[in-house]
Amino acid sequence: MPYLRLAITSAFLRRSFDYAPPQGMPPEAVAELKAGQRVAAPFGSRQALGILLETAEETDIPPAKLRPAAAVLDDAPLLSPAVTALCRWAADYYHHPPGEVFAAALPADLRAPAPYQPPRPQGWRLSTHGKGLPAGALPRAPRQGEILAALQRRAAIGADDFKAAGFSAAARRQLEADGLIERCALPHPLKEATARAGPALNPAQAEAAAAVRAGIGRFNTYLLDGVTGSGKTEVYLQAVAEVLRRGLQSLILVPEIGLTPQIAARFRERFDADIAVLHSGLAKGPRLKAWERARAGRAHIVIGTRSAIFCSLARPGLLVVDEEHDLSFKQQDGFRYSARDLAIKRGQLENVPVLLGSATPSLESLRNADAGKFRHLRLEQRAGAMQGAMQDVMQGAMPDAKQGALSGVKQGAKQGAMPGAARLPEFEILDVRRQPLRGGLSGALLAAIAGELDAGNQVLLFLNRRGYAPTLQCHACGEVAQCGHCDARMTVHARARELRCHHCERRRPLPPACAACGSRALLAAGVGTEQTDMVLRELYPGRPLHRVDRDSMRRKNAMSELIAEVAQGGPRILLGTQMLTKGHHFPDVTLVGLLDTDAALFSADFRGAERMGQLLTQVGGRAGRAGKPGKVLLQTHYPDHPLLSALLREGYGHYARMLLEERRQRGLPPFSKMLLLRAEAPALQAAEDFLRALREALPPAAR
Ligand code: ADP
Ligand code: ZN
Ligand code: ZN
Repeated sequence: MPYLRLAITSAFLRRSFDYAPPQGMPPEAVAELKAGQRVAAPFGSRQALGILLETAEETDIPPAKLRPAAAVLDDAPLLSPAVTALCRWAADYYHHPPGEVFAAALPADLRAPAPYQPPRPQGWRLSTHGKGLPAGALPRAPRQGEILAALQRRAAIGADDFKAAGFSAAARRQLEADGLIERCALPHPLKEATARAGPALNPAQAEAAAAVRAGIGRFNTYLLDGVTGSGKTEVYLQAVAEVLRRGLQSLILVPEIGLTPQIAARFRERFDADIAVLHSGLAKGPRLKAWERARAGRAHIVIGTRSAIFCSLARPGLLVVDEEHDLSFKQQDGFRYSARDLAIKRGQLENVPVLLGSATPSLESLRNADAGKFRHLRLEQRAGAMQGAMQDVMQGAMPDAKQGALSGVKQGAKQGAMPGAARLPEFEILDVRRQPLRGGLSGALLAAIAGELDAGNQVLLFLNRRGYAPTLQCHACGEVAQCGHCDARMTVHARARELRCHHCERRRPLPPACAACGSRALLAAGVGTEQTDMVLRELYPGRPLHRVDRDSMRRKNAMSELIAEVAQGGPRILLGTQMLTKGHHFPDVTLVGLLDTDAALFSADFRGAERMGQLLTQVGGRAGRAGKPGKVLLQTHYPDHPLLSALLREGYGHYARMLLEERRQRGLPPFSKMLLLRAEAPALQAAEDFLRALREALPPAAR
């Protein structure tokens, strides 16, 4: 007898569970079951949801202990074969309980062990009794007769058509009451997708789009590498248009919830099609509906954030990951995964092309492109600024080679840029050695801020540390406040009068005195956004100041409200952590200040310098739009740092290659694999002993 091997969604164990088939289920029916089907099964004392992984002929469970599953819930798998395979692969690759992985792939409403009826449009048809009536029946009730006659011509009429035909609802109710017609579920109307023509592509875009179009129908990964405004989205749109022509679906992943409306609007403008949007900000109901349209094959285009990588598609044709380098594609807690990496795996499983786009590709992707695993497609010019750049070439007026790579673009765009053409701002290093800093701001930066505000412009200040100060130190003995639960330092939150651990979220009140020596001389050392916020309010009273970090943006719609407010224009200061730099365009921002470049240059995270390069390039691309040239000021104690000058002089591509070389020499990813093992225990010794024993057990090369 075959067994059902299930992933149990409520089980936190890294294994599957075997069950006997539901009682009374004939062997032929068991043989017909497919991987991905949902099954209700007893687990402990409750009914749990299981996902069928496979039917197996053998099990290690003794027959007496084998429990039968309660019921198979759906006639066919709700997850496509590829998504089922992707979940299994991910559970194995990320060492995560398979049940939790499948739970992540299902909309919340389908995680309960209950059957699922996909909603269908409602309509009316003749009942058996009604079918017996002759043509022209009910001559004395003409409004009822009208409906009967219509249903004698067509199998059923949907609720919308019913209304559109102007039939009487009262007559319909009477017919229902008399048992002549009855309600029925209808098939979904199939919507034809049509595409409007887009702009004529420039040669680089055309080449990229042609490569992707030619690759439809098989797996291949493309890295579309081009600065903000170089027309990457336009290439996505053209590739999607071809996918549509072939009757297939496209899945587009974007980094932030805040970005989905923007990109969805762009797709809606271009396509008259069913576009499903999926992100965690949606309520359960709309989310399930969007998921259902994608799964059933009705949605032509699916746009979503990270978790949409698990959305089943009936007819997959293309996977796009926009801003592939973005950190938000990594799920950082619970089931940890990289949606970008999963997209590539999924492309392989579905046999469809994967298009990764970025202005600042991750080192992993650049390395894959260099190694020939990805096809590298480059867009080197700003799409809208083509004409200006061409003129430069013709007049022999290309920017001087010694001109910085980033600021050089600005020169190119200065002349005769087309309407809507974006400009890259100018970058300038502020040497803050020996300069007094107030809230992390140097005199030169403060003067620049004042100048822009007085001119009615907006200023964006970036500091990737929230809270008032990153450390609390005793001035008498040097003791630094530690978390105690983990080994991180506590961050001072002045307004809340608390110490908070940004790693494990522990909190405690600000201590009045040093825990080690009792001294009351405690110093808040270093600067976080809360402190800069206070200083700015003091210096520029009355100027609108918006702080954007995890503390200030807790409310659900805080970000979209902020964007709307900033869009009203007028002088404003935006101060924030990296939350602020994600894809949002701030056309009135003419000055960007990076308060602490050094933290990134000397980050303990080996990816710190990569992030800084991405951030700087992205920030540069977001300011100074709408014809207002922008300026980016970087505060640093290392104005001659070779990485910094490489980035500013040669641009991100060159900088990334330098970083890659450094990683290769130091044997860091992507030239090696890195594994983080973390132990938690009530007593430090136990955790240390465990980790030491583990290390002994590892092969020598991995120690
Ligand atoms: P990216 O996604 O790389 O930031 P977009 O595709 O959004 O770039 O293009 C930037 C701007 O240039 C958009 O307003 C877009 O409509 C326009 N654009 C893109 N390609 C072309 C083209 N070939 N001709 C004219 N305008 C274009
Ligand atoms: Zn002390
Ligand atoms: Zn902690």
